[in-house]
Amino acid sequence: MKGRHPMAGSQSSLREANRARVVDAVKKHGGLTQVELAGATGLSAATVSAIVKELVAAGAVEVRNTVRSGRRAQLVTLAHRVGLVAGVVVGYRHLRVALADVSHEVLAEQVLPLPTDHRSDTSLDRAALLIVDLVERVGADLDELLGIGLGLPAPVDPATGMISVRGVLRGWDSVQVAQVLEKRLACPVFADNDANLGALAESTFGAGRELRDLIYVNVSQGVGAGLVLNGRVHRGADGTAGEIGHVQVDPAGRICGCGSRGCLETVVGCPALLEPLYPSYGHVTLRDVVRMTNQDDPGCREIVADAGATVGTVVAALATGLGPQRVVVGGDLAETGETFLGPLRDALRRRTVLSQAGGPDVVPSALGLRAELLGAIALALASTDLFERPDSTDDEGAGR
Ligand SMILES: [Zn+2]
Repeated sequence: MKGRHPMAGSQSSLREANRARVVDAVKKHGGLTQVELAGATGLSAATVSAIVKELVAAGAVEVRNTVRSGRRAQLVTLAHRVGLVAGVVVGYRHLRVALADVSHEVLAEQVLPLPTDHRSDTSLDRAALLIVDLVERVGADLDELLGIGLGLPAPVDPATGMISVRGVLRGWDSVQVAQVLEKRLACPVFADNDANLGALAESTFGAGRELRDLIYVNVSQGVGAGLVLNGRVHRGADGTAGEIGHVQVDPAGRICGCGSRGCLETVVGCPALLEPLYPSYGHVTLRDVVRMTNQDDPGCREIVADAGATVGTVVAALATGLGPQRVVVGGDLAETGETFLGPLRDALRRRTVLSQAGGPDVVPSALGLRAELLGAIALALASTDLFERPDSTDDEGAGR
């Protein structure tokens, strides 16, 4: 039976707190050298060294040789045998699932196409089956799974794990999404908006590393933004922060699934984005448009550039409100590079005063289409107490 080990005296609790700081830093970044750990925790090199030694002895972390800036260094990662976490990202048309160890290393992943207007019950069934499959594929056991991060293309109320706005993702309203998957796999599930997960991943490992304030924008089948403010993902009331897909850009436009008119998503989301191409190009998909844009097709370039400018007007307003250091752009359209990013950046420059003070730079995602999935893994790791498993027999765990 595993329990906490409260040791007497403030010295012991200080030591416990320092150990927790080291474990949390390794958990967040996946692997750090001892010098980087000292920087990340604010502890002295000697304290870090002593704590790492203790944690290695307890089997909580592993140390291996690496090279940093041309010098040999020792990389500290969480011990692989601590367990596994899974990331699941539900998109409008795809389901992405990955299995990772506690050092963020992805062991297996798979993408499945989903039908349009897929429903929560069948999609969550597929996600559960896929996780079981991936666990088997890496030769592990389902009870090694410690937690699951789940991304959804809709605002998610962090308190309930449910989608907090009706109509945004049809077939998923009023479903206790996290609980349903939790029951299927007997494992804790932490649900969040997909763009928030992209923001988390980019700010931890990607194009926003080391930045305290950034906006992450994902433009794929739909449009969403995730905000990192003062170094943390900002979810807002009911998880609705950054829901830019439902900002009105055309007062005389089409009625959106959310019930409003002329939302950004009714202009640059699919199928609206592709519609002007149909008469001349026949049936094309978003991936076709990205590919043809990168092959310099003028019609596709036109569509993508217009979308960049339209998204830019909304991002300009958001950036004026928040004053980010950087705007990171991910999703399918970001793969067209400057064709999409240029007009977006231009709108930000022309429509705000931010640029007069230097302004945020606009860069493509460093993690590409996997940003949300890596964010789901990061969320699962951040939310799971790795060393307090009820079935653990390891009495010398890192303790928290
Ligand atoms: Zn809407």
